[in-house]
Amino acid sequence: MQKGNIGVTTENIFPVIKKFLYSDHEIFLRELVSNAVDATQKLKTYASKGDFKGELGDITVRVNLDKEAGTITISDHGIGMTAEEIDKYINQIAFSGANDFLDKYKDDANAIIGHFGLGFYSAFMVAKKVDIITRSYQEGAQAVKWSCDGSPEFTLEEAERAERGTDIVLYIDDDCKEFLEESRISALLNKYCRFLPVTVAFGKKKDWKDGKQIETEEDNVINNTDPLWMKKPQDLKDEDYKKFYRDLYPMSDEPLFWIHLNVDYPFNLTGVLYFPKIKSNIDLQKNKIQLYCNQVYVTDSVEGIVPDFLTLLHGVIDSPDIPLNVSRSYLQSDSNVKKISTYISKKVADRLQSIFKNDRKEFEQKWDDLKLFIHYGLLTQEDFYDKANKFTLFKDTDDKFYTYEEYQTLIKDNQTDKDGNLIYLYANNKEEQYAYIEAATAKGYNVLLMDGQLDTALVGMLEHKLEKARFTRVDSDVVDRLIAKEEAKNANIEAGKSEILSSVFRSQLPQVNKVEFHVEAHSLGETASPILITQGEYMRRMKEMANLQPGMAFYGEMPDMFNLVLNVDHKLIKSVLADTDKECEAELSPIEAELRGLNARQAVLEQAQKDKKVDEISEAEKNDLEDVEKKIAAEKSKKEAVISKFASENKVVHQLIDLALLQNGMLKGEALNNFVKRSIDLI
Ligand code: ADP
Repeated sequence: MQKGNIGVTTENIFPVIKKFLYSDHEIFLRELVSNAVDATQKLKTYASKGDFKGELGDITVRVNLDKEAGTITISDHGIGMTAEEIDKYINQIAFSGANDFLDKYKDDANAIIGHFGLGFYSAFMVAKKVDIITRSYQEGAQAVKWSCDGSPEFTLEEAERAERGTDIVLYIDDDCKEFLEESRISALLNKYCRFLPVTVAFGKKKDWKDGKQIETEEDNVINNTDPLWMKKPQDLKDEDYKKFYRDLYPMSDEPLFWIHLNVDYPFNLTGVLYFPKIKSNIDLQKNKIQLYCNQVYVTDSVEGIVPDFLTLLHGVIDSPDIPLNVSRSYLQSDSNVKKISTYISKKVADRLQSIFKNDRKEFEQKWDDLKLFIHYGLLTQEDFYDKANKFTLFKDTDDKFYTYEEYQTLIKDNQTDKDGNLIYLYANNKEEQYAYIEAATAKGYNVLLMDGQLDTALVGMLEHKLEKARFTRVDSDVVDRLIAKEEAKNANIEAGKSEILSSVFRSQLPQVNKVEFHVEAHSLGETASPILITQGEYMRRMKEMANLQPGMAFYGEMPDMFNLVLNVDHKLIKSVLADTDKECEAELSPIEAELRGLNARQAVLEQAQKDKKVDEISEAEKNDLEDVEKKIAAEKSKKEAVISKFASENKVVHQLIDLALLQNGMLKGEALNNFVKRSIDLI
């Protein structure tokens, strides 16, 4: 028997392996099973080249669990190893500069294992002792047994093994007993080994007999050696893609589209990406693209390898050229990886474009499900925008679809404002904004429906990208002013009347926390609504953005500001004004007379002070003006008190305000109840 020390420069690597790689212990199984698969494939290659002339026989890789003995055994019928090969491949581990590296990557088992070629040694993450019993495929080779108990000392001796191949026996450590559970190993094999290219069996199939589970003779095969992405697209039917999708994500709806990737230059990459049907945000987190390296599962966090927006897709990417056993930050700066990312993004755009061209109807039908991906891509990926803006769709409130270009043509004549801006009108809720949409369409405008999660951000981007484009929500102003076509008409009502009218309504508006109303009177025509609520585009959008971006909390804290617009042409508003005049005249005229006097006095004082420098104005002059201003304020509040008293008893005013609030979903609780009672009274 031979004894020796494993060739490492660091005192003892095993505690290091154990200690640092704790979070990823489970990958030992992937490493050992893929070693077995590699050894088998090498043998197949030798056979095909005539370097191995024997029978291949049963080449199934077997994983067996012996709970009583506390072992996991991985067996293959691959090339095996001679004593010399064990010495060369297993005993000599290059391990220079280990401490520095380990410090840096202590949480990244993949990086460490990749760096040191520690695949086999990952066994010591879970085992207190490992045996290798192996016999080389070469004729007349002597079987050998290598054994190591977790110290740098190993033993190597001659052994018995009837057939070529290797058994790796892991004596599972006491603190890793979980790996002796069948369900755990089964889950790990399903995760990492599901598509390995050589048949892998985990024990035997079980059967129920007389109410008991018994083992059958049949291998419990856990993998599909010929996964869909390795096949040629021309040999596959839609049903094959759908079935594979169901295999990958059993609980998901049928995918919308898929893309079969197949490149061999300048890098190797295969895979199938699916556009999933997303029902909720939870779906977005749950299922992910799986990354494989030669059919060995590596990870499902593909950030940095595919463009961000494509991480929302599902499916499989397989590439031997992605340096998998390295750290994330390295991965993201790798030029190959960048090329892969650009390639995938381009492929996705091409595929969408071709569906759009060849089957626009289908594309439109699926648009609502697709738009999240496309919008995300537009927003985050410049080169994707350049391609995708040709097939990205707008949907209007009548469910008609337009490309950006088609839409510009559609609205150019009717929706260009006096400054030459193209005004894109949109609604984000067909039900809530019904009245506004109707008013806009009645005027011959088209209204887009922008109710997607990313539409707020998209609107901001499109205003930069599209020429002279402005987006305006239908409820952001009265319909006549949504698109400013000529200089605004003056309301055909004198300023004093408009002020009284505003006071009447302002005085009766409900006090709502964090909501402010600005009341204004406008001439909107006899047939338009007597009263409506609008919300300015700019502030509303700022607040929406603030909800998306934490850095803009300032805007989020601002109150919601609404305009309450009174249509002075409408007969109800006219009658409110006439009633106010009639009822309040007696009380208001002395106040008005007083105010006129005060206003005149104020004008005179201001005029006198206007041309003087600040230090030339005397104390007395300042006091005079202040005094007048105070008196004006006092008269004004008297006036408002009179108006408010009148308004508080006026049912029409209350009914109109409530109707406007109701139309915007803002009438609630007690106010709503009062409205219902008052309405019944009025009937
Ligand atoms: P890597 O697989 O990255 O080269 P490993 O530490 O996993 O690193 O394995 C080292 C070497 O040991 C392999 O390259 C291979 O030559 C040999 N080896 C490991 N497992 C087996 C096996 N089951 N059969 C034959 N040779 C093996």
